[in-house]
Amino acid sequence: MSRIPLSGLYYPNKFGLLVIDALRDVMGQNGIDAILRLSKLDEMVDNYPPNDLEKAFDFAALSSIMISLDELYGMRGGQGLASRAGKALFADGLKDFGAVAGVGDLALRMLPLRAKVKVGLPAFAAIFNRITDQKVEVLEDGNDFLWIITVCPVCWGRGQSNKPVCHLAGGLLEESLRWVSGGAEFGVVEELCHAQGDNHCQFRISSPRWGSGQ
Ligand SMILES: [Zn+2]
Repeated sequence: MSRIPLSGLYYPNKFGLLVIDALRDVMGQNGIDAILRLSKLDEMVDNYPPNDLEKAFDFAALSSIMISLDELYGMRGGQGLASRAGKALFADGLKDFGAVAGVGDLALRMLPLRAKVKVGLPAFAAIFNRITDQKVEVLEDGNDFLWIITVCPVCWGRGQSNKPVCHLAGGLLEESLRWVSGGAEFGVVEELCHAQGDNHCQFRISSPRWGSGQ
């Protein structure tokens, strides 16, 4: 039982396992054990989710872990760790799905940067929408793209915050963009967050390189 009431909404077990493994790599066994205990996820200590796609890792577990990171490492340290876990979630998880694997070729193609992102983002969103209970929409806003999480596991059930808190989602997005673009850097900013009282969590994705019609 997590510190937040269970949501009945799930990530696949594998996603939960990747997050825990990524955190353990950085903070060591004692660190991840402390985080799981602080998150009231004692049953997961030495008993990680299995490496399968069954939807059984409750959003409340993920959100509880994010809160514990901030408490134990401070907002700044917690942010860095959450972002790193998000990057691992893409690199070791999402990237291997068939629909995304095809998008990987884009990095090598002579397409304008913006075209790669325009094809890549909806493919990433489709994976979430298909194999998880997280719901994502992708919109364009001028030259920018908006990654809109209408049902967000990262801040699920989290109390009021005066700033956005979904750093795991931001890290995942940064890594996915880096991958689809063959290493380009982007601006990725969470400008709306459910934990701040907004209706959904929204990331704005921008690049100075596509301002001139790219
Ligand atoms: Zn969120």
